[in-house]
Amino acid sequence: MASKPIFVTQPFLPPLDEFTPYLQQIWENKVLTNNGPFHNQLEQALCDYLGVEHLALFTNGTLALVTALQALRIRDEVITTPYSFVATAHSLLWNNIKPVFVDIDPRTCNLDPARIEDAITPKTTAIVPVHCYGNPCDVDRIQQIADIYGLKVIYDAAHAFGVRQKGLSVLRHGDLSVLSFHATKTFNTFEGGAIVCPDAKTKERIDFLKNFGFSNEVTVMAPGINGKMSEINAAFGLLQLKYIDGALQRRKEIEALYRKALSGLRGVALLPKPEQTETNSSYMPILITDDAAHDRDAIYYAMKKAGIHGRRYFYPLISDMPMYRRLTSAKRENLPVARKVSQQVICLPIYPGLEDSQVLRIVDTLVDALK
Ligand SMILES: *Cc1c(COP(=O)(O)O)cnc(C)c1O
Repeated sequence: MASKPIFVTQPFLPPLDEFTPYLQQIWENKVLTNNGPFHNQLEQALCDYLGVEHLALFTNGTLALVTALQALRIRDEVITTPYSFVATAHSLLWNNIKPVFVDIDPRTCNLDPARIEDAITPKTTAIVPVHCYGNPCDVDRIQQIADIYGLKVIYDAAHAFGVRQKGLSVLRHGDLSVLSFHATKTFNTFEGGAIVCPDAKTKERIDFLKNFGFSNEVTVMAPGINGKMSEINAAFGLLQLKYIDGALQRRKEIEALYRKALSGLRGVALLPKPEQTETNSSYMPILITDDAAHDRDAIYYAMKKAGIHGRRYFYPLISDMPMYRRLTSAKRENLPVARKVSQQVICLPIYPGLEDSQVLRIVDTLVDALK
């Protein structure tokens, strides 16, 4: 194969020379971290861009998740999805919380609200859903359930940068939402993350927690962590933000091209586009259905051999991993939809630098693999 391999994603990097002035500024300021000027500018710029009130930057999304659970004093049992990146459930274990897995809705790959109530026990304190692939959860139904049972809701919104419903950010729902700015995500700061919160008081507590728990020079209010974003990462975020609209637009075009090329292809199903939603085309999941000539893994490996490196997001299920599989809620019978989807899914390459000709090559490779 002469053509270069294509990977599932490629980080979006603005022109290098445009980053130099930011570095010069940092060298001049001599502030490298701890709420530096770029850190604070990025917090404000992201609030403005995303349309949210308050946001606290973090070193990465996982520490932001761990801290969000701490900030709301979540304990005992938390309802969550098995169909996600491991960090969702790991953040619970790091807080000594027992994950209770609930099955997903096959149309969105998100927590199925109709199955949440059955999983609630007197020990349940919160729901941690994921906006999988940036497709919004059924936020209204989840909030209704949370209100009835007195539960907190923390969204793992690692995939949901810039997603809007009826013009409003999906990050405004629940008690907190957590973003990831990892290199593989739609908006990246190399490593990074954030907690979106509804009020200044909560942000203040979160800011203490991400700085060891210091509320002033001499008071430590809780066993906080070091979760602060550095000035270099924040500066890169500010530069990246200048290019984000173009990057999202290009992702949208690529998704449209894929959808057109793949529609009606036997053995392949696509998730429906969510209604009244401005999505971010952060992922391009396809499902290899039962009427395909080969199973998903055969197609996945055949494509890989031809230089197309998709990813099986999310396989294996979190609930099948060694630290989770003994939980009652991890049992096979409890999660039939998640299990099925995780055996069918391939996420195809999608990123702003992907060219139309490459998309067509990926589709051709898939069509060959399906034969
Ligand atoms: C990427 C991701 C995380 C973790 O974020 P990091 O910034 O890599 O720590 C958490 N949850 C989901 C769903 C993710 O995709």
